[in-house]
Amino acid sequence: MKNIDTLFINALVLTMDEDYHLYKKGAVAIDGDNIVAVGPEEEISQEFSGNISIDCDGKVLMPGLVNAHTHVPMTLLRGLADDLRLDVWLMGYMMPVEREYVSPDFVRLGTSIACAEMIRSGITSFADMYYFEDDVAKATSAAGMRAICSQSVLKFPTPDAGSYEESLEYSRDYIKRWLGHPLIVPSVAPHAPYTCTPDILKATAKLAAEFDVPLHTHLAETALEVENSRNDHGMPVIPYVKKQGLFEAKVLAAHCVHIDEGEMRTMLHVGAGVAHNPTSNMKLASGVAPVKKMLETGLNVGIGTDGPASNNDLDMFEEMRLAALLAKGFSNDPTALPAKTILTMATRIGAKALHIGTLTGSIETGKKADLILLDLSPVHNSPKFDRDPNGVYAQIIYASKANDVTDVMVNGKFLMRNKSLLTLDEKELLTGAQEYAKKIDSFLFVREKSVLSKLIAIGGALEEESFEVQVKVKINEIQSVLDSMNNPLIEVIRKRHYHEYDTYFQFDDEEGSRLRYREDDFINDNKEVDSVRYRLTLIGPQREHQKTSDILLSRSRYFAPAGQSLRFYREYFKPASEFEIEKDRLRFLVKFQDTEFFINIDSILKPDLGIFLEVKSRTWSRQDADLKTRRASQLLALLNQQPGEVVADDYLDLIVNQK
Ligand SMILES: [Zn+2]
Repeated sequence: MKNIDTLFINALVLTMDEDYHLYKKGAVAIDGDNIVAVGPEEEISQEFSGNISIDCDGKVLMPGLVNAHTHVPMTLLRGLADDLRLDVWLMGYMMPVEREYVSPDFVRLGTSIACAEMIRSGITSFADMYYFEDDVAKATSAAGMRAICSQSVLKFPTPDAGSYEESLEYSRDYIKRWLGHPLIVPSVAPHAPYTCTPDILKATAKLAAEFDVPLHTHLAETALEVENSRNDHGMPVIPYVKKQGLFEAKVLAAHCVHIDEGEMRTMLHVGAGVAHNPTSNMKLASGVAPVKKMLETGLNVGIGTDGPASNNDLDMFEEMRLAALLAKGFSNDPTALPAKTILTMATRIGAKALHIGTLTGSIETGKKADLILLDLSPVHNSPKFDRDPNGVYAQIIYASKANDVTDVMVNGKFLMRNKSLLTLDEKELLTGAQEYAKKIDSFLFVREKSVLSKLIAIGGALEEESFEVQVKVKINEIQSVLDSMNNPLIEVIRKRHYHEYDTYFQFDDEEGSRLRYREDDFINDNKEVDSVRYRLTLIGPQREHQKTSDILLSRSRYFAPAGQSLRFYREYFKPASEFEIEKDRLRFLVKFQDTEFFINIDSILKPDLGIFLEVKSRTWSRQDADLKTRRASQLLALLNQQPGEVVADDYLDLIVNQK
């Protein structure tokens, strides 16, 4: 008789091993952190005696669930912003709030809360991707869970790094520190191809390969991502990242919603794992991943909850059920992804996708003791039929709930006994979470009230602290203005031709803010569009008008390059109303009396308002503005042979006045 630490008896043991061994009255022997034996109780209890013997009372004893992709600290952002498109959600809400609040403290608290939730729902391993991953790892190992903790690297500044070089350095130190830890597998996470440069993809792959740790990323999540990849790189996502050497590392790729069979074979060939995130894909309307095809190809596809801010929970039972239902509902084939397959994805195959398949994912001698007890007797899961031995898988996938998990062991240590958590204090954690929620609420409350702070929150808004001298008149035709520019007093430095499409968002705020989204099409000499530029300009706050005769001075504006789509800005800023202006613009940079002026001749096509001549100059002091004002008047007089009617400074006023 061999003495061991823990002996589980009287359990329905689902091993989830390659042959799906199942013991109706089974036993599992645990010694230290290892599973030392599994089999029929009568055999095992003959051979082993446990210091602790646990009568499982007929419950299911199975491997703990593997959450193949998540962002655990985001429990603190759960419910912050929902029912939005991915870009608005991510760039408009998550990233600005993260920049403001994510700290080592935030990350540890969020991770601990996630661990409490995950232990309660029978998860023993997960793959995380976030910032300050060192602190995610600390909180995870303190909670006693197993995890791939992946340090994010992005092309823009993140809460934990001012540049990608910095986060790469952090990743290297972090990986070194945690290498060989019994619970934590350190890893690096280039966030996604569209948030990383080719250099980042190369460098992170190299780093992961150097230490033989997994590389965790998001690939082909949306159709738009694939379309952009085709436009920008001439190929879809998987070949593109392959070209950057990403698959030199052992990759765990979240999503893969939009990949074809060739791409699947590429991923199989390089041994990449996939994390399928059905709730996140449905909630963000990203599409349905071709999971059945991926499995048929031979890929290891695990199931993940994704972050709790986009799900909004970490419940693998819900995730498993949805994975099964989606595959059936969308393929018109009720035999697609049967319950047994789904449970395998959430255990053994999931562990393989995370590249920890030799450690965990099934109850087999030699693997780590990561297991759970599941009660199949509650009212929502009865009666129990015995005819079909596979019936138990269906019971688990279609009827069990996270709350039916009673006990959780990771690495030979209990984290939950009879539904009570042993490593975490939920009450204390929830108090901490509420404090963060309060702070973030007031931050967003203030931000949402001001168009300017919303603009700043998405990055890159530059204030131009200049005054603008500007005068505008309505004219009847262009040629006489062009002729008068031959005047020797006017030196033409540059000439440009644009076609401009402006969308003005109007807001009901106190400042009467207006945001202009401008598409500038540069027209070349052959009258073709040469290049296109998108810009956002905020007009309104702190504006000062000072009319000196017919001249108008206006205070600074806020500019930002418009990196997102018009649709993004519309959904993010939620203007009270909007209108469009389309115009053809001849723009001259001229020198007149030693002063540079812009002369714009605008033919406003939509709405049809006619032709306007505008003289403009930027200035940095009021004194200078007075001088320029006089010169602008003189220049206008030279150009405008038949003086027109002076009009207000922007087209909006014009339209409003017309109405
Ligand atoms: Zn994700």
